[in-house]
Amino acid sequence: MRLPAFDYLRPESLDAALEALDRHREDAAILAGGTDLLVRMKQRLKKPSTLVSLQGVQGMNHVRVEGDFVKVGAMTPLASLLDSETIRELFPSLHRAVRLIGATAIQHFRGTIGGNLCLETRCLYYNQSAFWRSGRTRCHKDSGETCYAEENSDRCRSANQSDGGCALMALGALIEIVSKDGTRVLPIEEFYTGKGEKPFALEPKELVREIHIATPGEGEGSSFHKLTYRSAIDFALVSAAARVTIRKDHISAVRIAVGGAGAAPLLLREAGDMLLGKNVSDTEAIEKASEAVSRHASAFMVDNLGSSLEYRKKMAGVLAKRAVLEALDASAKKNQ
Ligand SMILES: Cc1cc2nc3c(=O)[nH]c(=O)nc-3n(C[C@H](O)[C@H](O)[C@H](O)COP(=O)(O)OP(=O)(O)OC[C@H]3O[C@@H](n4cnc5c(N)ncnc54)[C@H](O)[C@@H]3O)c2cc1C
Ligand code: SF4
Repeated sequence: MRLPAFDYLRPESLDAALEALDRHREDAAILAGGTDLLVRMKQRLKKPSTLVSLQGVQGMNHVRVEGDFVKVGAMTPLASLLDSETIRELFPSLHRAVRLIGATAIQHFRGTIGGNLCLETRCLYYNQSAFWRSGRTRCHKDSGETCYAEENSDRCRSANQSDGGCALMALGALIEIVSKDGTRVLPIEEFYTGKGEKPFALEPKELVREIHIATPGEGEGSSFHKLTYRSAIDFALVSAAARVTIRKDHISAVRIAVGGAGAAPLLLREAGDMLLGKNVSDTEAIEKASEAVSRHASAFMVDNLGSSLEYRKKMAGVLAKRAVLEALDASAKKNQ
C-alpha cells in the first residue's frame, strides 16, 4: 500500500508548528512518530493534504519532576519512558503499559507518548484497506450512516486501545493543550470525548504539548494489565489499570480504568468507590468491585475487536482485579 501525496512541513519551533496548524486546520494532521498515522493514511482512513511533523520542535521531549508533578513532553519517545528511572519508580503502571505497546521496534523506532495518547479509536470493520472497505457503504466513522459493529447504532462504537491512555486515565493525568491562541489544561477524563467519530477534545489548530502526572504520595501503588492474542504486536482486546492509596491498611483512594471497552479509556468510579475504606485484605470487596467493572464496562463494549464479546466483558473485571491487587501489593511494600 502506498501513501497518498501530501505536503510535508517540519517546523523547528512550537510557535511555527502552531502557526502551521492554524493555517491548515482540518486539512492538516500532526505527525509525531507516524507509527499509527502513516498506516491509516495508507489505508485511506485519513487523507490530510498537509502533514505537520513535530520531530524538529524543541521542548517536547522530556521527563522531569516539577513540584508535585512529573511532566512528560508529548514527543517523548516510548523508548525514553522505558529507560526513565522516574517513570519506572513512580509509575510502574505506565512503564508496563509502554513496554506492552506494539513491539520493541515501535517503542524504539519512533512511537511517542503523545501519539499513543492521541491514538485514534479502532474497529475491525474500519481498520481495513480501502479495497476491503469499498465493498460496503460507509459507516459513521467514515462519514456514513451505518454501523457494522452494532445493528441500528446511530453512532460509532469504535474502541480506544491505547495502552498509555488507559494507564494515564487511572493515574489521573492532566493534558496540556496548546494553540496559537493560548494554553489549556484538561483532566484526562475531559480530554477523551467518549465519541467514536471524534474521540478527543482537540480543535484542529491545537496539539498536546505535555502530560502532567501527580507524583505519588506515601502508600500509593499502580499497575496495568492487558489481554492480547499474542505477546507482542497486538492491540488490547481489553486492558485495565489501577492507582490505589493505602492508609493504615485501608484503601483511601482508588482509580480503576479499562481500555478496549469504549471510545475512551473508561474511568470506573463506582467500582472504585466500592473499595474505599476497605481493608487491603478484604478479598470479597475486591471481587465485588471486579464484578462491577465487568458489568459497567460491558455497557460500552461491542463485538468489534476480535475474540468473543462475552470473554472480553468477563476479562475486563479479571484484569481490573489483577491490577488492583498488584497496585495494593506495590503500595504495601512501599509502606513497609
Ligand atoms: C503493528 C502495530 C502495533 C501496535 N500496537 C500497539 C499497542 O499494542 N498498543 C498501543 O497503544 N498502540 C499500538 N500501536 C499504535 C502506535 O504505534 C502507538 O500508539 C504509538 O505510540 C503512536 O505514537 P506515534 O508517535 O507513532 O503516533 P503518530 O502515528 O504520529 O500519531 C498518532 C495520532 O496522534 C496524533 N498526534 C500525535 N502527536 C500528537 C500531539 N502531540 N498532539 C495532538 N495529536 C497528536 C496524530 O495526528 C495521529 O492522529 C501499534 C501500531 C502498529 C503499527
Ligand atoms: S463501530 Fe461501527 S461506525 Fe464505528 S468504526 Fe466500527 S463499524 Fe464503523
